[in-house]
Amino acid sequence: MARYTDSVCKLCRNEGEKLFLKGSRCFTTKCAIERRRYGSGQHGQDRKKQSEFAVQLREKQKLRRTFGMLEGQFSSYFEKAARQKKVPTGLRLLQLLESRLDNIVYRAGLAPSRAQARQLILHGHINVDGKKVTVGSYQLKLGQVVSVRDNSKKLIKAIVEANPTATCPPWMSRDMDALSASISSLPVREDLDQSIKEALIVEHYSR
Ligand code: SF4
Repeated sequence: MARYTDSVCKLCRNEGEKLFLKGSRCFTTKCAIERRRYGSGQHGQDRKKQSEFAVQLREKQKLRRTFGMLEGQFSSYFEKAARQKKVPTGLRLLQLLESRLDNIVYRAGLAPSRAQARQLILHGHINVDGKKVTVGSYQLKLGQVVSVRDNSKKLIKAIVEANPTATCPPWMSRDMDALSASISSLPVREDLDQSIKEALIVEHYSR
Protein backbone atom coordinates (compact mmCIF):
# COMPACT_ATOMS: atom_id res chain seq x y z
CA MET A 1 0.00 0.00 0.00
CA ALA A 2 1.29 3.49 -0.88
CA ARG A 3 2.26 5.62 2.08
CA TYR A 4 3.83 8.98 2.86
CA THR A 5 7.58 8.54 3.45
CA ASP A 6 8.95 12.12 3.60
CA SER A 7 9.57 14.03 6.86
CA VAL A 8 6.34 14.30 8.87
CA CYS A 9 7.55 17.54 10.50
CA LYS A 10 7.35 19.11 7.04
CA LEU A 11 3.60 18.42 7.11
CA CYS A 12 3.22 20.43 10.33
CA ARG A 13 5.33 23.26 8.98
CA ASN A 14 3.28 23.41 5.80
CA GLU A 15 0.04 23.55 7.81
CA GLY A 16 1.57 26.17 10.12
CA GLU A 17 0.68 24.29 13.29
CA LYS A 18 1.55 21.26 15.36
CA LEU A 19 -0.17 18.07 14.20
CA PHE A 20 1.57 15.97 16.90
CA LEU A 21 2.80 13.26 14.55
CA LYS A 22 6.01 12.35 16.36
CA GLY A 23 5.03 11.46 19.89
CA SER A 24 7.02 12.92 22.77
CA ARG A 25 9.32 14.94 20.49
CA CYS A 26 6.34 17.17 19.66
CA PHE A 27 6.35 18.42 23.26
CA THR A 28 10.02 19.37 23.31
CA THR A 29 12.03 22.27 21.93
CA LYS A 30 13.27 19.88 19.21
CA CYS A 31 9.87 20.25 17.52
CA ALA A 32 10.44 21.74 14.05
CA ILE A 33 7.47 24.12 14.48
CA GLU A 34 9.02 25.57 17.64
CA ARG A 35 12.24 26.26 15.77
CA ARG A 36 10.90 27.38 12.37
CA ARG A 37 7.33 28.61 12.35
CA TYR A 38 7.04 28.86 8.58
CA GLY A 39 6.48 26.46 5.69
CA SER A 40 9.20 24.19 4.36
CA GLY A 41 11.03 24.79 1.10
CA GLN A 42 12.23 27.82 -0.84
CA HIS A 43 8.88 29.66 -0.68
CA GLY A 44 7.97 28.60 2.84
CA GLN A 45 8.28 32.13 4.23
CA ASP A 46 6.26 33.82 1.47
CA ARG A 47 3.05 35.43 2.71
CA LYS A 48 0.10 34.39 0.57
CA LYS A 49 -3.52 35.46 0.76
CA GLN A 50 -5.53 32.26 0.69
CA SER A 51 -8.60 31.78 -1.50
CA GLU A 52 -11.76 30.22 -0.04
CA PHE A 53 -10.86 26.98 -1.82
CA ALA A 54 -7.35 27.03 -0.34
CA VAL A 55 -8.69 27.54 3.20
CA GLN A 56 -11.05 24.57 2.81
CA LEU A 57 -8.31 22.45 1.25
CA ARG A 58 -5.85 23.23 4.06
CA GLU A 59 -8.41 22.27 6.71
CA LYS A 60 -9.02 18.96 4.97
CA GLN A 61 -5.28 18.32 4.55
CA LYS A 62 -4.66 19.12 8.20
CA LEU A 63 -7.20 16.55 9.40
CA ARG A 64 -6.09 13.95 6.84
CA ARG A 65 -2.45 14.34 7.86
CA THR A 66 -3.25 14.28 11.56
CA PHE A 67 -4.73 10.82 11.08
CA GLY A 68 -1.92 9.78 8.69
CA MET A 69 -4.12 8.93 5.73
CA LEU A 70 -3.79 9.15 1.97
CA GLU A 71 -6.32 11.08 -0.08
CA GLY A 72 -8.32 8.11 -1.42
CA GLN A 73 -8.73 6.59 2.00
CA PHE A 74 -9.73 9.92 3.54
CA SER A 75 -12.30 10.69 0.86
CA SER A 76 -13.89 7.26 1.32
CA TYR A 77 -14.30 8.12 5.03
CA PHE A 78 -16.02 11.32 3.96
CA GLU A 79 -18.37 9.42 1.62
CA LYS A 80 -19.23 7.01 4.41
CA ALA A 81 -19.91 9.92 6.77
CA ALA A 82 -22.11 11.65 4.18
CA ARG A 83 -24.27 8.52 3.78
CA GLN A 84 -25.21 8.64 7.48
CA LYS A 85 -28.07 11.14 7.63
CA LYS A 86 -28.86 11.13 11.36
CA VAL A 87 -25.62 12.89 12.39
CA PRO A 88 -24.11 15.99 10.71
CA THR A 89 -21.55 14.83 8.14
CA GLY A 90 -18.63 16.70 9.72
CA LEU A 91 -19.25 15.23 13.16
CA ARG A 92 -19.78 11.75 11.73
CA LEU A 93 -16.48 12.04 9.84
CA LEU A 94 -14.68 12.88 13.08
CA GLN A 95 -16.41 10.02 14.91
CA LEU A 96 -15.36 7.54 12.20
CA LEU A 97 -11.76 8.73 12.33
CA GLU A 98 -11.67 8.64 16.11
CA SER A 99 -13.03 5.07 16.09
CA ARG A 100 -10.12 3.68 14.08
CA LEU A 101 -8.09 1.12 16.00
CA ASP A 102 -4.79 3.00 15.52
CA ASN A 103 -6.37 6.14 16.97
CA ILE A 104 -7.80 4.28 19.98
CA VAL A 105 -4.42 2.69 20.75
CA TYR A 106 -2.89 6.18 20.58
CA ARG A 107 -5.66 7.90 22.57
CA ALA A 108 -5.45 5.21 25.26
CA GLY A 109 -1.77 6.10 25.75
CA LEU A 110 -0.54 2.69 24.55
CA ALA A 111 1.52 4.39 21.81
CA PRO A 112 3.02 7.90 21.65
CA SER A 113 1.68 8.67 18.16
CA ARG A 114 -0.81 7.28 15.67
CA ALA A 115 2.05 6.20 13.40
CA GLN A 116 3.60 4.17 16.20
CA ALA A 117 0.19 2.76 17.10
CA ARG A 118 -0.12 1.53 13.50
CA GLN A 119 3.30 -0.13 13.77
CA LEU A 120 2.32 -1.92 16.98
CA ILE A 121 -0.91 -3.13 15.41
CA LEU A 122 0.82 -4.25 12.21
CA HIS A 123 3.37 -6.19 14.22
CA GLY A 124 0.62 -8.12 15.99
CA HIS A 125 0.82 -6.65 19.49
CA ILE A 126 -2.86 -5.69 19.75
CA ASN A 127 -6.05 -7.71 20.27
CA VAL A 128 -9.65 -6.67 19.76
CA ASP A 129 -12.09 -8.70 21.86
CA GLY A 130 -9.31 -11.22 22.46
CA LYS A 131 -8.38 -11.74 18.80
CA LYS A 132 -5.30 -10.38 17.08
CA VAL A 133 -6.03 -7.53 14.64
CA THR A 134 -3.23 -6.25 12.37
CA VAL A 135 -5.14 -3.53 10.49
CA GLY A 136 -4.78 0.01 11.85
CA SER A 137 -7.93 1.20 10.09
CA TYR A 138 -10.07 -1.45 11.82
CA GLN A 139 -13.29 0.33 12.83
CA LEU A 140 -14.09 -0.22 16.47
CA LYS A 141 -17.65 -0.46 17.74
CA LEU A 142 -18.92 0.65 21.13
CA GLY A 143 -17.82 -1.69 23.87
CA GLN A 144 -15.26 -3.66 21.87
CA VAL A 145 -12.17 -4.13 24.03
CA VAL A 146 -8.72 -3.29 22.74
CA SER A 147 -5.96 -5.05 24.67
CA VAL A 148 -2.32 -5.92 24.45
CA ARG A 149 -1.30 -9.48 23.63
CA ASP A 150 0.30 -11.34 26.53
CA ASN A 151 3.73 -11.60 24.87
CA SER A 152 3.74 -7.84 24.14
CA LYS A 153 2.85 -6.53 27.60
CA LYS A 154 6.47 -5.87 28.61
CA LEU A 155 7.06 -3.81 25.46
CA ILE A 156 3.87 -1.76 25.80
CA LYS A 157 4.39 -1.22 29.54
CA ALA A 158 7.76 0.36 28.72
CA ILE A 159 6.06 2.66 26.18
CA VAL A 160 3.37 3.61 28.71
CA GLU A 161 5.95 4.32 31.41
CA ALA A 162 7.86 6.58 29.03
CA ASN A 163 4.67 8.52 28.34
CA PRO A 164 3.12 8.98 31.82
CA THR A 165 1.15 12.16 31.05
CA ALA A 166 -1.02 10.62 28.31
CA THR A 167 -4.65 11.28 29.18
CA CYS A 168 -7.68 9.41 27.94
CA PRO A 169 -10.63 11.31 26.38
CA PRO A 170 -13.98 11.23 28.23
CA TRP A 171 -15.69 9.06 25.61
CA MET A 172 -13.22 6.23 26.18
CA SER A 173 -12.47 4.03 29.13
CA ARG A 174 -9.14 2.41 29.83
CA ASP A 175 -7.48 0.17 32.37
CA MET A 176 -3.77 0.85 32.46
CA ASP A 177 -3.04 -2.14 34.74
CA ALA A 178 -4.67 -4.48 32.24
CA LEU A 179 -3.42 -2.37 29.28
CA SER A 180 -6.87 -2.29 27.73
CA ALA A 181 -9.27 0.34 26.42
CA SER A 182 -12.65 0.71 24.76
CA ILE A 183 -15.05 3.30 23.37
CA SER A 184 -17.72 3.86 26.02
CA SER A 185 -19.80 6.31 23.97
CA LEU A 186 -19.40 7.99 20.61
CA PRO A 187 -17.73 11.38 21.06
CA VAL A 188 -19.98 14.43 20.81
CA ARG A 189 -18.63 17.60 19.24
CA GLU A 190 -17.61 19.14 22.59
CA ASP A 191 -15.36 16.12 23.25
CA LEU A 192 -13.37 16.65 20.07
CA ASP A 193 -10.60 19.00 19.05
CA GLN A 194 -12.17 22.46 18.92
CA SER A 195 -9.57 23.73 16.46
CA ILE A 196 -10.90 21.47 13.67
CA LYS A 197 -13.32 23.32 11.40
CA GLU A 198 -15.10 20.33 9.89
CA ALA A 199 -17.66 22.56 8.12
CA LEU A 200 -14.84 23.70 5.83
CA ILE A 201 -14.05 20.07 4.98
CA VAL A 202 -17.71 19.38 4.18
CA GLU A 203 -17.74 22.49 1.93
CA HIS A 204 -14.56 21.31 0.25
CA TYR A 205 -16.04 17.96 -0.73
CA SER A 206 -19.38 19.54 -1.69
CA ARG A 207 -17.87 21.75 -4.39
FE1 SF4 B 1 4.91 18.30 14.11
FE2 SF4 B 1 5.72 16.81 16.15
FE3 SF4 B 1 7.42 17.38 14.15
FE4 SF4 B 1 6.65 19.24 15.91
S1 SF4 B 1 7.87 17.41 16.32
S2 SF4 B 1 6.76 19.51 13.70
S3 SF4 B 1 4.47 18.69 16.27
S4 SF4 B 1 5.54 16.15 14.02
